[in-house]
Amino acid sequence: GADGLALLGTAPGAPCCPHGPALLFVKTSQGKEEGRRFYACSACRDRKDCNFFQWEDEKVSETRLAAREEYNRNHQPSFTHRQNVERYKNFVLLPLSKRRFCQECQQLLLPAEWEEHSDHQFLCGISTAQLKSPSQLLYPLENKKTNAQYLFADRSCHFLLDLIIDLGFRRVLSVGTPRLHEIIQSKASQEEDFKVRSLLLDIDFRYSQFYTEDEFCHYNMFNHYFFGGEAACETCRKFLYQDNGERVIMVTDPPFGGLVEALASSFKKLMAMWKETEKEGHDNQEMPMFWIFPYFFESRILEFFPSFSMMDYQVDYDNHALYKHGKTGRRQSPVRIFTNVTPSMIVLPVEEGYRFCAICQRYVSSGNQHCEICNSCTSKDGRQWKHCVLCKKCVKPSWFHCNNCNCCALQNHTCEKTDAGCFVCGKAGHKRSTCPSLSRT
Ligand code: SAH
Ligand code: ZN
Ligand code: ZN
Ligand code: ZN
Ligand code: ZN
Repeated sequence: GADGLALLGTAPGAPCCPHGPALLFVKTSQGKEEGRRFYACSACRDRKDCNFFQWEDEKVSETRLAAREEYNRNHQPSFTHRQNVERYKNFVLLPLSKRRFCQECQQLLLPAEWEEHSDHQFLCGISTAQLKSPSQLLYPLENKKTNAQYLFADRSCHFLLDLIIDLGFRRVLSVGTPRLHEIIQSKASQEEDFKVRSLLLDIDFRYSQFYTEDEFCHYNMFNHYFFGGEAACETCRKFLYQDNGERVIMVTDPPFGGLVEALASSFKKLMAMWKETEKEGHDNQEMPMFWIFPYFFESRILEFFPSFSMMDYQVDYDNHALYKHGKTGRRQSPVRIFTNVTPSMIVLPVEEGYRFCAICQRYVSSGNQHCEICNSCTSKDGRQWKHCVLCKKCVKPSWFHCNNCNCCALQNHTCEKTDAGCFVCGKAGHKRSTCPSLSRT
């Protein structure tokens, strides 16, 4: 019951910012909706990136509407995807000595454009190998609130691809997973018998310089918006169509600060798109999906996708200080795979300590012990959890049962720091120490 904002979602006729239709929010107090509803940008939680704001009941004048449309047009990328594809064709015809990449504009340069970028830093001699791994060439957009571009470590990226292949999938809808897309595309162009294909959906338009319209769609996963319009949407639809038994899986690794309900709503639309591609074929099945997200979002994700389960595999990143392999042994990553694929089919690497629990019928991390009382492998974070008979469940190893709070918590926690209300009078909004009924006596 904290104060905050609640997402109401996408609404028909919603106004647009440069990132597509805005989302409808409402201010909440004590968990109850109240106050005016308003629209805000779906993609940018940092007002510095997009400051779109409009009250739901606000009358917007014709002049302001026109100005907004103009603003939205001006805030689109300077080249279209089509133009970028043409530029790429010309770029690869250049001898190595003339292949430049402007690091400031994050753009491949054609010789006629060198002049314009003369006082910018640039890289020379861009090789075919570099063009095939744009995620290494482009700098990651680490802006926490908006892009949060955290790239898979090689180990995790190859694990995912091998798993996808072993499960028999031949098409990967890569939603916000440019590095996975890139290794698939790169293998497909190099190995003749490599049959996997990928379509990248991402809001990072820089990728349109390296991929055709059949390989990349400029897409916003918070409002299911295709910047390329109906044609781009159709590309996606076609990709999801399972030709001669080529099974499709969607893999997504959204920014963690993101609104889970907005993501879930978009993913349900992508699932529906998949379902529509084949009238009879899918029966009651769901499009197979890997949603990569931190373990502490488990209950939120299961709320929207009850058929999903969380795998113990810890996903590692290159440019995330907290979540990557240290030089000395491994740090624990909180990032997991949530999937509707049968857990027993997700084989985790034994050489990294994962083992199969025959009772739970899934692979678990080495520290995850099967609890006889819970009858499941209960650890979420990879450490061995312990069973509390009073809480009737397993808890983190660092927790102890607190008789005050009547639940397990860290030893040095502050009791009463709950929403439950005052221990003395039972009313919310203050703690025992400041209870008005006590101060009177
Ligand atoms: N681990 C992945 C990258 C995940 S980072 C990999 O290595 O392939 C999150 C990705 O989501 C980034 O590529 C980022 O550009 C993309 N993204 C961020 N906001 C988005 C949005 N609103 N819509 C679509 N993609 C988005
Ligand atoms: Zn916006
Ligand atoms: Zn078990
Ligand atoms: Zn237990
Ligand atoms: Zn307890």
